[in-house]
Amino acid sequence: GTPGVAGRSEAYLDDRRHMFHSWSAQASLDPVVVAGAEGSWFWDESGRRYLDFSSQLVNANIGHQHPAVVEAIVAQARSLTTVAPFHAHEVRSRAARLIAERAPGDLDRVFFTSGGAEATENAVRIARLATGRHKILAAYRSYHGATGGSITLTGEPRRWPSEPGIPGVVHFFGPYPYRSPFHAADAAQESDRALAHLAEVITLEGPATIAAIIVEPVVGTNGILVPPPGYLAGVRELCDTHGIVFIADEVMSGFGRCGEWFAVDHWGVVPDLICFAKGVNSGYVPLGGVILAPHLADAFAERPYPGGLTYSGHLLGCAAAVASIEAFEAEGILDHVRRLGTEVIGPELAKLAANHPSVGEVRGLGVFWALELVRDGATREPLVPFNAAGPAAAPMGAVAAACRERGLWPFTHFNRVHVVPPCTISEADARTGLAILDEALTVADGFTTG
Ligand code: PLP
Repeated sequence: GTPGVAGRSEAYLDDRRHMFHSWSAQASLDPVVVAGAEGSWFWDESGRRYLDFSSQLVNANIGHQHPAVVEAIVAQARSLTTVAPFHAHEVRSRAARLIAERAPGDLDRVFFTSGGAEATENAVRIARLATGRHKILAAYRSYHGATGGSITLTGEPRRWPSEPGIPGVVHFFGPYPYRSPFHAADAAQESDRALAHLAEVITLEGPATIAAIIVEPVVGTNGILVPPPGYLAGVRELCDTHGIVFIADEVMSGFGRCGEWFAVDHWGVVPDLICFAKGVNSGYVPLGGVILAPHLADAFAERPYPGGLTYSGHLLGCAAAVASIEAFEAEGILDHVRRLGTEVIGPELAKLAANHPSVGEVRGLGVFWALELVRDGATREPLVPFNAAGPAAAPMGAVAAACRERGLWPFTHFNRVHVVPPCTISEADARTGLAILDEALTVADGFTTG
């Protein structure tokens, strides 16, 4: 049945009657009706305010309703809303140039999409056609989108109902020091062994059959897994050795989330293709894309690229991207993110880890952090089992509810709470949210057994 419909607004009732929601069993949904948002906060119809420690789906990097970005969309709407992808337009050209100028190394050409899944789909197509090979290696504990190809790349349970998916995708283990698949003792060993494993997968699959390796440089939804030093450089080297295209999926990690334009910038590694979306314009208008190295763009100099989207490089999305990139620079937002990460969020989360038996590990950088919750700090048994649903997931549900009751909107996944606020969050708001999280973690502590 429909929960609590008595006295609910038309917005709520129409949603419950006519909306079909993502990733959910439809019958028991009880969505918050969002009435407005500003900066790091949003509120519901009754004026109840939430501090957005999720940036919605980790996309509102510049915060909600940034005036310059909103104004750019309004101005563009008045000027011209839409042109077909085969035309050129000032704002689309400008967006492409601003993105290319901030991309690492020689990457300098942008294929626009409407979002992240289409970006990974097209990156795979580019790599396959340019190399004439078909296999794609993708990591377990990854998310690359929910369309046919991108869900096949995805290395977690959301892929399962869509199997078998597209042919030729092979999964491998990336580094994860806290739960090392390689039984490594430290970060250096984790990096070496993860690279040896990847090299062996390449050997056994046949290097000449592998078009691309796709990785999230910092794994997002599946755990904020920051790669140990040397790992991404090692992937680059393996790709170079075997003529494999290195695809960095920066849909979540890019555009400020890690305190750089792109997460790979932390390690000075230059991939062949970068997928982006989300933070490019904070999702004010849907926009994503693939940034190409010249050798891949040149593969389509004489033959046509067989792919396109009606809304590729939508003018409203591009106007928002231009305004957002300019605001990031004018307001020094990347510096702000770096400072928040090293001086506020990192140290405060370390205190939470020290004070709460339920916190097994904290990890991250910039405004991209995870707390991994455990029943027992010694055995590292997760607070809820992998992929838990229903009653088995109740402890995490209770932690999230404790946050929301106190006005904090958290991002949770499996046994983790992610701390992923807007890049523009003030230090005071960040501290407010972390103090609420401190209280909510006492709920998690109640489930510990260690
Ligand atoms: N790739 C990564 C790393 C993501 O985090 C996401 C979305 O969360 C996607 C791809 C898919 O993006 P979209 O939901 O815009 O299709």
